[in-house]
Amino acid sequence: MKTIRFDIITIFPGMFASPFNESILKRAQEQGLVHIAVHDLRAYTLDKHNRVDDYPFGGGAGMVMGVEPIDRAVEAVKQQAPAAHTILLSPAGKPFDQAKAWQLAQKESIALICGRYEGVDERVREAVVDEDLSVGDYVLSGGEIPAMVLVEAVSRLVPGVIGDETCLDEESFSKGLLEYPQYTRPRDYKGWTVPDVLTSGDHKKIRAWQQDEALKKTRKNRPDLLGGKPQGEPE
Ligand code: SAM
Repeated sequence: MKTIRFDIITIFPGMFASPFNESILKRAQEQGLVHIAVHDLRAYTLDKHNRVDDYPFGGGAGMVMGVEPIDRAVEAVKQQAPAAHTILLSPAGKPFDQAKAWQLAQKESIALICGRYEGVDERVREAVVDEDLSVGDYVLSGGEIPAMVLVEAVSRLVPGVIGDETCLDEESFSKGLLEYPQYTRPRDYKGWTVPDVLTSGDHKKIRAWQQDEALKKTRKNRPDLLGGKPQGEPE
């Protein structure tokens, strides 16, 4: 049975309690498919005030998270999970996308470092982590929500986590396209009707409509995906 372990290093461990204790991630942990450990970075500081940040060399606004507590925390994680693939969440990192999620889902163990303040001492990126990843072209206040995004996107690709895995093949990005529009009952709500083809019972026609709509939606919302590589499961 394939399982995956995540170790999350953060100064706000409490942020993870609720998102990881609901729905699919909760069940995946109960089934032993996903193991998540959250570590308080302040436990790895050496000074009596448990400081994790300091002023930036060269001046500039705000505070920077220091390399020492992060390095010590990663070393502690690696004692429990020696194979941990270590990732720094950063808006300046490489984009995290569905192809990357598939790649990470093949790992047995992933450690995630959540930044705060103005960011993290560059030596963390240079010497401590395997890679740095961004969840999008915007700046959040911390790496905790990006870490949750990564854990959820990767975990649902681990066999057994999602009930019906055939739906993974149909999802947005898996074939290089966004997913086609979906509808459910009622057929008519306030005069907003469901396309006739979907209730025709003609499966060939339905499939053709779905493919056509997926292409239209991609052209409209994400033309950059067309001509790119499908981001589905690696061969
Ligand atoms: N000064 C940094 C910059 O301009 O690149 C931004 C620091 S941000 C306020 C604090 C922390 O939030 C970062 O160290 C990172 O861990 C996290 N973060 C913010 N936006 C992110 C994003 N788009 N993807 C991943 N992590 C992000």
